[in-house]
Amino acid sequence: MWKVTVDNDRCQGCGTCVDACPGEVYEMVDNLARPVRMDDCHGCHTCEALCEQDACHIEAR
Ligand code: SF4
Ligand code: SF4
Repeated sequence: MWKVTVDNDRCQGCGTCVDACPGEVYEMVDNLARPVRMDDCHGCHTCEALCEQDACHIEAR
């Protein structure tokens, strides 16, 4: 299982993580990415790699 967090102070709402996540973990809420389906994360780290703001983070839980 993976814990997905988004730093709201860093997220610029570009939507890259929403579009790239193969698990459809993220949705945009009020122009910020939110990990609304965290249980669907399979730890690929794609979102972390692509986020230019270093806003999303994945860790084992
Ligand atoms: S890729 Fe980063 S900056 Fe863009 S919406 Fe996702 S968390 Fe926010
Ligand atoms: S690590 Fe992969 S599956 Fe998990 S939220 Fe990021 S892009 Fe989606």
